[in-house]
Formats: sequence, structure tokens, C-alpha cells
Amino acid sequence: MIYLVPMGNIESDIVQSASLCLWHTFGFEVKRFSPLEIPTHSYDEKRRQYSSIEILRMLHKTMPKEAFRVLALIDKDLFIPVLSFVYGHAQFEGKVGIVSIARLRQEFYGFPEDKELVTNRMLKEVTHETGHLFGLTHCNDTSCPMTLSTNIRALDKKGVSLCESCKLLLKENMVEKFQ
Ligand SMILES: [Zn+2]
Ligand SMILES: [Zn+2]
Repeated sequence: MIYLVPMGNIESDIVQSASLCLWHTFGFEVKRFSPLEIPTHSYDEKRRQYSSIEILRMLHKTMPKEAFRVLALIDKDLFIPVLSFVYGHAQFEGKVGIVSIARLRQEFYGFPEDKELVTNRMLKEVTHETGHLFGLTHCNDTSCPMTLSTNIRALDKKGVSLCESCKLLLKENMVEKFQ
């Protein structure tokens, strides 16, 4: 069972789309968890961003044991110390991952809201971070959601569905490691 955890102000239809995508791509039942408060100590006042490491640590501690994997969706901008920002963060083959929708919204770039676009971008990043949780590494195929995108143009270029080789690797991992 994958637990999907909204943090902050995430529209329920976005959570619903993420839930369907996780079930469809990874084949696990998805439980939508009630929204969690964002830990105040994860906020960095100098950077005005939230530490994904601190939030993952908190999720690791507080999520119920029966949660096989946990994916959080947050409306705040995230960072790790060596990068100016991250769209998301997950431990490789770990239990918890997180995706931020802050930079997926058109409003972030000064454009009018586009709900369909933000949902589409979110699905790619949800697939990417959850892919790491299930042992997928970065992919060279720029149309695969497992490719690393460091800007919004690169993110928009990739698709929502895993490429054939990532699909195959995921299938093998599911049989060998995650059943
Ligand atoms: Zn990645
Ligand atoms: Zn791929």
C-alpha cells in the first residue's frame, strides 16, 4: 500500500489524479492520508524554502508501519543544501518521497493559472520520485519521466508514462525486491 500525503494547500483533484497515477503505474493500492502539517523547523528563513531532508525525516518517523511507501505532495518550494531548489526528493529504494508543486504552477513564472498543466507536470514528478522508491535511477530518454529535469522546459518535454526500459526494470524490481 502506498500512502499519499498532502501537505499544505493541495487541491483535492490534484491528489486524486496522483492517486490514480500511482495505482496505474506501480500497481499498489493507494491510501489518501489526511493532510499533514508542514513541520515549522523545516523552514529555512535565509533561503525562504523548506528542507526536503527534514520533511522526509519527519515522514519517516510519523507514518504508520503498514505504509509500504509514502509519497507526500507539498505546495511549498523545497531545497537540498547543494541545489537552489528541487521539484522533489526521494530516497533510492527508500520508504518516503516528496513532490513540490510550487514551481509546477504557471503563477510561479508570472503566467495565469493552468490547472491541466500543473496536474500534468505533477504526474511526471510523482512518477519520477516514486520510481526512485522502487529502484529506478535516472533515464537517458528525455521523454521518460525518469529523466532528470532541472528546469521547467525540460520537465515539459518529458511524458507521463515510463519508457519501455524503465517499465521493464520496474517489473523486474517488483518481482525481485518489492513483493
Ligand atoms: Zn531523480
Ligand atoms: Zn526511462
